[in-house]
Amino acid sequence: MASASPTRDLNPNSMESGSASQGLASDSIRVYNTLTRQKEPLQTVEPGRVGMYLCGPTVYAEAHIGHMVGPVIFDTIKRYLVYSGFEVNWVVNITDVDDKLIASAKKRGIPMPQLATEMTMDYLANLQALGVTQIDHMPRATDNMDEIIAFISELIELGFAYENEGDVFFDVSRDADYGQLSNRSADSQLGEGGGAAAKKRSAGDFALWKSAKAGEPSWNSPWGNGRPGWHIECSAMSRRLLGKTFDIHGGGLDLIFPHHENELAQSRCCHGQPMVRYWMHNGLMRAGAAGKVGGKSDREQATPAESSEASDVGKISRSKGAGGLAKLIEEQTGDRIRFFLLRSHYRSTIVFGPEGLEEAGQALSAFYRLIQRFERLSGEDFYARGESELSYAKTRRDGDAALSRANHGLLAEMARLRKSFIEKMDDDFNTGAAVSELFEISRSINRFIDQESLEDSKSRTSESLSVLRSSMSVLRELGAILGLFLKEPKSSGGDGNASTVDGLMSLLIDLRAKARANKDFATSDAIRDGLAGLKITLQDLKEGTTWEQS
Ligand SMILES: [Zn+2]
Repeated sequence: MASASPTRDLNPNSMESGSASQGLASDSIRVYNTLTRQKEPLQTVEPGRVGMYLCGPTVYAEAHIGHMVGPVIFDTIKRYLVYSGFEVNWVVNITDVDDKLIASAKKRGIPMPQLATEMTMDYLANLQALGVTQIDHMPRATDNMDEIIAFISELIELGFAYENEGDVFFDVSRDADYGQLSNRSADSQLGEGGGAAAKKRSAGDFALWKSAKAGEPSWNSPWGNGRPGWHIECSAMSRRLLGKTFDIHGGGLDLIFPHHENELAQSRCCHGQPMVRYWMHNGLMRAGAAGKVGGKSDREQATPAESSEASDVGKISRSKGAGGLAKLIEEQTGDRIRFFLLRSHYRSTIVFGPEGLEEAGQALSAFYRLIQRFERLSGEDFYARGESELSYAKTRRDGDAALSRANHGLLAEMARLRKSFIEKMDDDFNTGAAVSELFEISRSINRFIDQESLEDSKSRTSESLSVLRSSMSVLRELGAILGLFLKEPKSSGGDGNASTVDGLMSLLIDLRAKARANKDFATSDAIRDGLAGLKITLQDLKEGTTWEQS
């Protein structure tokens, strides 16, 4: 694996993954590979190590929620791989030179690098808010010009690329395997149009280097002043940081063609070996509220089949103004958005809308109430260990041992649910199914607290508290894999008293549950009616009771 040069790349965090060869679980993890269209066992280039690349943003405008899908998913995948014993090196690139950047900077009357820096900072702040903390390197295209130019020179030398009046193109006709990833032929690729089209040998050829136009930022090269095409950036930067063949390449489904097809062609032709073992693609996001984004009739989105076909209608994009991510995070909290994104399978389309977020928020608050309940009963701080706990390379195996020694019914249940969670994650990182195991865990622990009457200090024994503590540590361990429950939640739009209010509400809800369990309906009704008088409504869901103030 090529060694990284950390001084050149943004390093949004300095978290080291622990040394990792123990407890390796590569034989049980299966990954859906877009290239072969099937799930395959994860077999890495180097045992115990994973090199992972995700195509990052073109930083010409503020990020929107759709841009966060990939980072949240691959952040979770990295957490799970580390948990499974791998040492993971995760690279997310920043495209900071591009037609759109040039146009947008010009429009705002500021230099392109200033725009790129502003938008990169916006992107990083959003990642932070959504708990995406696992990226190791964020190389910028403009910091990697030497590698990009060297890569293009190698392709020309090998006969896979040609220069024409200062532009360089990849010659698709020289690559017999072109089109494998996207399952289409070179002929179906559209030409880039404009002046460059006339310089190509055939319409399917794509630009590696674009000659400078007056007033545009440019770099010196063997072909004169110019700038790189988008695809070549990723081939050059992934080679520098991850090597010629690396393990996982991720991105949204919309990048399969032409971007990933072209990356793959460049790297494979240059090196005579595969670029990537597993191509992973996440589903795209679609706006859920009918007519809200596209303005077409409600009928068009009435059934799932129709709406997926008409997905362009609701596809979240900058041009359709889904923006205001910072505001959305402030209103909804990063935790809630992250939880919302992880509730479905990463390959499916995510339907984004207020209902989904509301549902995610209610489900999440049931977990937070359990955590508050635990803290109240045990006097412990659930979050005290923080994210440093995540150098947990051995946890996957150690946890099994600890729980299998226990002979308490609840702990046996925890061991079963934990195993099931791991099976779901092993199966192509099915976070949606794994989340349902977390719900089961939460329900079982709440039931235990009720059955043992732990709310009553006289019924608490050191043994029952110890069982409670071990069960909660399973919730903490599995939650951390999804990047959840790592720190005390921020109440959305709350003030300084919000956590006290949450604590009091949690106490009242638990007292009501206890009264109902004892068939003391007079008390439970008095609590509900009293709260109604304060305009607070209780709602009993299968995940637990939630509350809302009108
Ligand atoms: Zn890329």
